[in-house]
Amino acid sequence: MAQSDLMDRASQAAAVAAQYCEEVDASARFPHEAIRAMRDSRLLGVMIPRDLGGEDASLADIAEVCCLLGQHCSSTAMVYAMHQIKVSSLVSHGRGSNWHRDFMARVAQDQLLLGSSTTEAGTGGDLGASVCAIERDGNDFKVRKEASVISYARQSDAILITTRRAPDAPASDQVMAVLTKDQYTLEKTADWNTLGMRGTCSEGFIFEGRAPLEQIFPEPFADIAGRSMLAHAHILWGSLWCGIAMNALSRAQAYIRAEARKKPGATPAGAARVGAAASMLQLMKSSLKTAMQRYENALTTPDELTTMSFALDMNNLKIGVSRLTVEIIQEALMVCGIHGYKNDTPYSVGRHLRDALSAPLMINNDRIAGNTELARRIYTAR
Ligand SMILES: Cc1cc2nc3c(=O)[nH]c(=O)nc-3n(C[C@H](O)[C@H](O)[C@H](O)COP(=O)(O)OP(=O)(O)OC[C@H]3O[C@@H](n4cnc5c(N)ncnc54)[C@H](O)[C@@H]3O)c2cc1C
Repeated sequence: MAQSDLMDRASQAAAVAAQYCEEVDASARFPHEAIRAMRDSRLLGVMIPRDLGGEDASLADIAEVCCLLGQHCSSTAMVYAMHQIKVSSLVSHGRGSNWHRDFMARVAQDQLLLGSSTTEAGTGGDLGASVCAIERDGNDFKVRKEASVISYARQSDAILITTRRAPDAPASDQVMAVLTKDQYTLEKTADWNTLGMRGTCSEGFIFEGRAPLEQIFPEPFADIAGRSMLAHAHILWGSLWCGIAMNALSRAQAYIRAEARKKPGATPAGAARVGAAASMLQLMKSSLKTAMQRYENALTTPDELTTMSFALDMNNLKIGVSRLTVEIIQEALMVCGIHGYKNDTPYSVGRHLRDALSAPLMINNDRIAGNTELARRIYTAR
C-alpha cells in the first residue's frame, strides 16, 4: 500500500469528520458519518496482514492517520485510535490462533469496529488488575463486568475485554477475550456527559457475555499489554493529541497573520507565544517519532519489549505528550485571546482545550507516574 494512497483516503474521511465535528461535540453523539466514510474507504482493516485481507499498514502509518483525524475531530480520531489499538493486539498476538486469524479476516472484509473494555468498577484505570473473572462452562466461558467506561460500546461490532483468568485467580492474572456483539449484552449504568471527547460516547455498562473458549487470546494479558498494547496506545493517542494541538496552533498562527496585516510593521503581541508553542509541538513530534523508532527496533531485539526501560519510555511518552498538548493549546488561547475563548470564531480553541484535557486523565498521569516510580524502586532494589 502506498502511503500517499492511505493518506488520500484518510483525508477524505477527515473532511467528513470536520464537517460534523461541532455537531458531534455539541450533542455528544457518535461521529457516524466519519466512521462510515472510513468504512467506505476501508480504513478500519488497514493494519491487518495482507494475507488476511488487510494492507499491512505500520504503526507509523496509523499514527499519521490519527494525527490527521485529530486535526479535524478529536472524537473521530480517538475512536479510530482505540479501534486500531485493539487491532494491534490481534495482529501482534492472534496470528497463532485459528479463531483470531479468522476474526482478523472478518474485520478486514466487513470493516468491523472494535471497542475496548479494560476499565472496571473497583480497579479504574489500573490496566493490570481485574475484578471480573472467566467462568468456564463446557467449551464456552461466561463473563460479567461492571465496565465503568467503554467508548462507542453500542456502535462496536466486537469488544475486547480484560478479565481474570478464573474465579480463583489473583487480580493480576488476566486474559483478554474477543466477544462479538451477538455474544454480549450491555446494560447502561452511566452517561457520558463530559467536558470533552464527547463524541466517543464512553458510557458505563454492565457487560455480560458468553462465547467459546477459543476466543480468549492464548497469551496472558500482561504479555499483550507489555509487548504491544502499551506502545500502540501511547503512540496512537499521542499522535491524535498532536493533531489537536496542530490545529489549535494553526488557528493562533492565522490570528497572528491577521493582526500583522492590520498593523503593518508592528510585531503582534502573541508572536513570541506562537514561537514557543511551535517549539513544543516540534518536541512532541520528535518524541513520538523516537518512540516509534524505539518500538520498531525493539520488535527486532528479543525481549527488548519486556524490559523496564522500554515500559518507562512509553509511560514517559504518554505523560510528556499529554501535558504538551494542553500547554500548546493554552498558548494558542492566550494568543487568540477572547477570539479563541469564544466558540464561534475562526480562532476558537475551546473545543480543542476541552478535548485535550482528557489526555492527562485517560489513565491518569499521576497513576502512570506512581507506577513508574514503583517500578524504578523495585528495579533498583534488586
Ligand atoms: C475519552 C476517554 C475514553 C475512554 N475510553 C475507554 C474505553 O473505551 N475502555 C475503557 O476500558 N476505558 C476507557 N477510558 C477510561 C480510561 O482508560 C481510564 O480508566 C480512566 O481515564 C480512569 O483512569 P484512572 O483510574 O487512572 O484515573 P482517574 O479515575 O482519573 O483517577 C483516579 C485517581 O487515582 C489516582 N491514582 C494515582 N495513582 C494511582 C494508583 N497507583 N492507584 C490508584 N489510584 C491512583 C489518580 O491520581 C486519580 O486522582 C476512557 C477514558 C477517556 C477519558
